[in-house]
Amino acid sequence: MQGTGLEITHTIDACRAALAPSRRAGKTQALVPTMGYLHEGHMALVRRARQVADIVSVSIFVNPTQFSDPRDLDLYPRDEERDLAMLREAGVDVVLLPSVADMYPENDETIVEASRLGNILHGAVRPGHFRGVATVVTRLFNIFQPDFACFGEKDYQQLQVIRRMVRDLKFPIEIMPVPTVREPDGLAMSSRNARLTPEDRAAAVVISKALNEAEAEAAKGAPVEALRRIIEATIAGEPRAQLRGLDIVSAGDLSEISGSVDSPVAIMVSAEFGGILLIDQREIFL
Ligand code: AMP
Repeated sequence: MQGTGLEITHTIDACRAALAPSRRAGKTQALVPTMGYLHEGHMALVRRARQVADIVSVSIFVNPTQFSDPRDLDLYPRDEERDLAMLREAGVDVVLLPSVADMYPENDETIVEASRLGNILHGAVRPGHFRGVATVVTRLFNIFQPDFACFGEKDYQQLQVIRRMVRDLKFPIEIMPVPTVREPDGLAMSSRNARLTPEDRAAAVVISKALNEAEAEAAKGAPVEALRRIIEATIAGEPRAQLRGLDIVSAGDLSEISGSVDSPVAIMVSAEFGGILLIDQREIFL
């Protein structure tokens, strides 16, 4: 199948049928799950997938169960034609654009949840969000049965939830983390950036700026509390930004830490600009 062009599927059955010949031929497959409105961050995942597997598959599905705000779901940007052109250009083999009814059949009642990792931090602010993510990713894993799946480090807690789920539920899938791709000014690329006004877009750089400052201070030995103060002060200095979440935790298990930064830590920031929530993160290894 590789090299024969992009196979576009709209149903789970068609997707499975598209993948069957390469599976029978013993080819490896890497999956990139997305919600569409693709940008260079997604394409970095696709390139990683291409490096590790014979067949690259992508899903485009704006997953309703991971949105707590129906308005946010309605406003999520979509551009199927452009997405498909980008996937074709990148040499993707199979894409699935399923319907909500296909992914969530009538009388659907089975969910997947990381009970601790999914309900702390970002998950405590957005109840049910990571349950929605873990449930849809499980379904996608069962549909595609990939050998590898690529996830962005930008969605740091999501990555940890998926890793834990794969370990706990014994999915024979290797999770490939991909570093965050940024705009030239440092803003993490996101489909949501398209919804920012030009003024908020310019202001949004404050998130990566705050993370850079915290990282520089951590390198000088600053404790967790000082990193927190630096980030809060930097974001407070941008009147268009409202800090919504700031977590400085142990990398990987996301447990709370305090005092000196002597093992890998993850800083997760979420901030709102004109009602649009943006997230970013930094892992610090000293
Ligand atoms: P989304 O379409 O926003 O659900 O994202 C799909 C995948 O792309 C997730 O694994 C994200 O973490 C990843 N992703 C989104 N933005 C970026 C970025 N700027 N750099 C790297 N990966 C990203």
